[in-house]
Amino acid sequence: MQSLEQLVRGRVRYLGDPGFDAATAPFNKRYADVRPAVVVSPRDHVDVARAIGWARDAEVPLVARGGGHSYAGHSVGSGMVLDLSGLDEIHIDTATGLVTVGGGVRSGALYAALQQHDLAIPLGNSNDVGVGGLVLGGGVAAVSRAFGLTSDALVRTEIVLADGSTRSCDATDNADLFWACRGGGGGNFGVNTSFTFQARTPVPSSTCLLLWRWRHARPVLAVMQDIMATAPDEFAARIGASRAGTEPGVVSVIGQHLGPAAELREMLAPALAVADPERVEIADRDYWDAKDYLHHETSGDPFAVRTRCTPKPLAEGGIEAIVDAVDRWPGSANPDGAGVALFTWGGAINRIPTADTAFPHRDTLFLISMDTSWSSTDPAQTIWCNLEWLDGVHEELGSYATDAAYVNFTDPALTDLSAYYGANHPRLARIKHRHDPDGFFRFPQAITPLT
Ligand SMILES: Cc1cc2nc3c(=O)[nH]c(=O)nc-3n(C[C@H](O)[C@H](O)[C@H](O)COP(=O)(O)OP(=O)(O)OC[C@H]3O[C@@H](n4cnc5c(N)ncnc54)[C@H](O)[C@@H]3O)c2cc1C
Repeated sequence: MQSLEQLVRGRVRYLGDPGFDAATAPFNKRYADVRPAVVVSPRDHVDVARAIGWARDAEVPLVARGGGHSYAGHSVGSGMVLDLSGLDEIHIDTATGLVTVGGGVRSGALYAALQQHDLAIPLGNSNDVGVGGLVLGGGVAAVSRAFGLTSDALVRTEIVLADGSTRSCDATDNADLFWACRGGGGGNFGVNTSFTFQARTPVPSSTCLLLWRWRHARPVLAVMQDIMATAPDEFAARIGASRAGTEPGVVSVIGQHLGPAAELREMLAPALAVADPERVEIADRDYWDAKDYLHHETSGDPFAVRTRCTPKPLAEGGIEAIVDAVDRWPGSANPDGAGVALFTWGGAINRIPTADTAFPHRDTLFLISMDTSWSSTDPAQTIWCNLEWLDGVHEELGSYATDAAYVNFTDPALTDLSAYYGANHPRLARIKHRHDPDGFFRFPQAITPLT
């Protein structure tokens, strides 16, 4: 058997080699102890195919790493990590608006390239997230209610399969794989070495950031839900109830409107009237300023997230459950704290039939994201209390919201993958069987092949 170094042209690194940690460290430090045996940084799709072939022959498990931001640490394992950071080319055809990126491109690099040509693709709110992980699980941006998901803008992808063959996939060629790559979750079907998106023209925007004291939580959460239930597709917001350290809770609304600030202020008027906010920022911004304003970086210290979905505003009991949960959060040393957030989905996301792509959540008004975080210096008891708290909130909100979960807000505590994939789960399992019958691409929540 040839050595890896003889087979691939890219770098091969082992524990202790310079750059090994940077090429493998998961963003979520909850998984910082998981150390792979080897990291291969392929130069191109040929290297990717050779690394896969070597790992198969050596029976070494392999996971691909895009931006390393999987909440559940799914891009690091005990065997080989395929670090895709070298697949970083970006090509923009200004005549057609078609944008092709390598499988390891990060969102920030793509945003910067798009801005030069004033072209837009719905990407997320972090520069460091990999485009690969984002698009394969769906990809939701503040503009998704108007522009659709990242995966709705995907028109072609190249993927290297478990047998080492490369497939070009679009709506006509290898259409089953193309369908699966639009929401079926990263790492399941192969290693995508490129993605082609149809870009569109950006729209002048406005943004809002509103903060209220905790005593106003109930009325603000209720009225904000009502506002978003009838808001036009151009407006999306994240409505948050959270706490950190020993501070009292805070209610926040951060959002983007593809229209003037005057319209945004009018839509928010009922929330501004229901209780006096502590902070109000509502301003016109061009599309790119709005993107920067909404960008959000967190410490990446250990955290855990669980999700649910709801097609309509939560009933009063649901709001009560959120407020209670924030009140009884056990605390930790992580400045990110904990909370519950309602991300407004719907609009253009909901106008695509559920069976058209693997992403199943086409009937959702809010993604409900419950999160907690702790520090690596916190004692085991604190971690245990935080995870127990999170499970408790998830269970309580089960009375008000559905079991549907967002695969990109990966929840390692989830046992039934149908929560991620809904009615599309069996079809994904059959596609997995067709292209990876032995389940070579394997990780704790990988789709199981189904005959
Ligand atoms: C700070 C932060 C902000 C976020 N913001 C948003 C947001 O605004 N909207 C949103 O929808 N989500 C958001 N997310 C979630 C994000 O979409 C997922 O965590 C995503 O999976 C991360 O992709 P990655 O490539 O960075 O991660 P990785 O950990 O590298 O990959 C995630 C999964 O995809 C696989 N994968 C990655 N690249 C490829 C590839 N080229 N081919 C095959 N498999 C691949 C990996 O093997 C792994 O299973 C955010 C996450 C964080 C931590």
